[in-house]
Amino acid sequence: EVLSDLNNKSLLFLKSLRNKRIYLENNILLNEKLKPFHKRAKIYNFHSCFSLPIIKNNEAIAVLVGISDQTDFFDRNIYKLLEQVKSDISSFLAKLEAEKWHDIFTNAMNTGFSSVVVTDENFNIVYVNDNMVKFSGYSKEELIGKHHSIFSSKTHSKEFSKRFYNTLLSHKTFTGVITYKTKNSKFVKVLMNITPYKSKDGKTYYIAIGRDITESVELQKTLEESLNKDALTGLITRPVFIRSTENFIKRAEHEKLLGAVVVINPVQFSAINHAYSFETGNKVLAKIADRLKAYFRKYDTIAKLESDKFGVLIKDIRKEEDIFIILTRLMKLLSKPYNIDGKTISIKFNTGVSLFPKDAKSAEELIEKAGVALLDVKNEANSFGFYKEDLKRKAQRIIEIKNDAMKALANKEFILYYQPYFDTKNMEIKGAEALIRWRKNDKIIPPMEFIPYLEESGTMTEVENWIIQEIAEKQKSWEKENLKPIPISINISPTSFEKKNFVANFISNIKAFDIEPTLIKIEIIERLFIENLNRSRQILNTLKQYGIKIAIDDFGTGYSSLSYISSLPIDFIKIDISFIRKMMTDTKTRSIVKAIILISKELSMKTIAEGVEASEQLDLLKEFGCDYAQGYLLSKPLPETEFKKILKHSDLSQ
Ligand code: C2E
Ligand code: CA
Ligand code: CA
Repeated sequence: EVLSDLNNKSLLFLKSLRNKRIYLENNILLNEKLKPFHKRAKIYNFHSCFSLPIIKNNEAIAVLVGISDQTDFFDRNIYKLLEQVKSDISSFLAKLEAEKWHDIFTNAMNTGFSSVVVTDENFNIVYVNDNMVKFSGYSKEELIGKHHSIFSSKTHSKEFSKRFYNTLLSHKTFTGVITYKTKNSKFVKVLMNITPYKSKDGKTYYIAIGRDITESVELQKTLEESLNKDALTGLITRPVFIRSTENFIKRAEHEKLLGAVVVINPVQFSAINHAYSFETGNKVLAKIADRLKAYFRKYDTIAKLESDKFGVLIKDIRKEEDIFIILTRLMKLLSKPYNIDGKTISIKFNTGVSLFPKDAKSAEELIEKAGVALLDVKNEANSFGFYKEDLKRKAQRIIEIKNDAMKALANKEFILYYQPYFDTKNMEIKGAEALIRWRKNDKIIPPMEFIPYLEESGTMTEVENWIIQEIAEKQKSWEKENLKPIPISINISPTSFEKKNFVANFISNIKAFDIEPTLIKIEIIERLFIENLNRSRQILNTLKQYGIKIAIDDFGTGYSSLSYISSLPIDFIKIDISFIRKMMTDTKTRSIVKAIILISKELSMKTIAEGVEASEQLDLLKEFGCDYAQGYLLSKPLPETEFKKILKHSDLSQ
């Protein structure tokens, strides 16, 4: 009844709700505003009443109504009592609420990840939560009452401490990563939020809530380090070097400074790995890095750009000529023998230099041009080359060749030449090596002039895919023409071999172009095997299972070792042309060739002599028992039409 008349704003308990006050009515029947009540009041004999608001969080959430059968029942004293009740209820509700939240928070603090420490204004610990106990290794008893420095790792800088205390003492929240020391002396990184809190009694407390981020910091650090630092030498990596160079350029443009980017390359470094071990090679690289660090000034930047290429940014050069002196001394220092585990190892170096601002004004370009300068001195040991104007033309040509070479495949400008090799016993053709040529505007460009750029531009794999397809097609058409079927060897470029999906791609090509696996062979230079013996073994095993024969190309360049080869499924060893050339005049080389052939026989591998140009060479190879010979004496690499003539003339019954 009452609620149906809520418009009646003068109703007692509605007033209480609105005004949060107690109202009394000591004679209901005389109050016209309570008229809707009168009928009932008479039936039940109500004569006076009060309404008392129940206050929670400063809001009236309910009203308590009391009734008496007497008029003038609620006097002053009762009113006072009601006031008391009102305030009691209110504070009781507040307490109940606080306890509820207290329970919730305490629970949250102890089940969450956070460690909580509360200290008094003197930073003595007054509260720790369970997490803090767990993570610090101390018990609650050991911590309460102690100064917060019990956690101190003493690893923070003065500036850090200053910021810490200044922030807190000026009643602001401090946020930062603090290194804590646990009871068992472990250092733990904690992301901390410390808030000063003034309690009602006027005391200041510091509430520190932290999260252990040691793991993520560590993870991030190792990640960063592994991304930005070369693990072997501790030098920065190429991306960091580029950034650093870019920073220098910004400053240098402003302050008109000269700088130089130097790319340092130990000559034939893979030879060290061959001759000794990979481990020794690594130690040498680390020593080279040490010498560089010792030689250059602190503010120059040293980096490891590639597996065996170092880069240095020399900042603030007074005049260009100074760089000659710097590098001459450097070459002298670097080429001193290296002592590794009792072994003395000599290494030669090449260095390429580009100058800022003369040669380039961006980091990438400076490095690239230093690389071009390096190419120019590749054949002179312990020398350095500058990127000059004439080298610019060369770079231009590289870019041109690069671009053209990428188009050459689409334009069908590549062709294959075939160089046969022969059985030394009866001089029968036993196979041929496919050698790529580039027919550009009626000129034939030899492979060494464009392959490096195909490799660099990443198009070599595509070209190799084309080669397989081409060979598959040729093999099929030769078969139709009833020519003698012989295996064709494909040279695999290092960049392709090093690609993750090399085998998968190779085999899927063989399948796609439907080529008989025994009619294909691959030639791989030996350096590639050693660099990752396990991976090579896997690759070679897969290829072998598939029926593809494998030859080591250019065997003997560098310091080869037959011992590792014995652990790989290799079918052929191609003795490098340099041995064949030298063996006629040099007895040592001759005995090496003889030994290679003998050991290969022991290991059930066939030998192919490369670059046989003279009949004397062939005779000697026959005498040593070399299985096959290849070279200008027998046949130059031939275009298809001429190559087919050789196939036609050979005995089909063989
Ligand atoms: P390679 O694999 O050592 O190939 C043998 C090179 O020696 C060929 O040069 C060949 O023409 C040359 N040669 C053969 N017999 C004689 C001889 O009696 N005397 C002399 N002086 N030279 C001889 P080419 O065709 O210029 O190839 C040079 C290099 O280019 C090859 O060395 C190989 O590393 C690379 N190459 C050639 N074609 C391909 C290819 O299709 N793919 C890949 N990845 N590399 C290739
Ligand atoms: Ca070859
Ligand atoms: Ca070769």
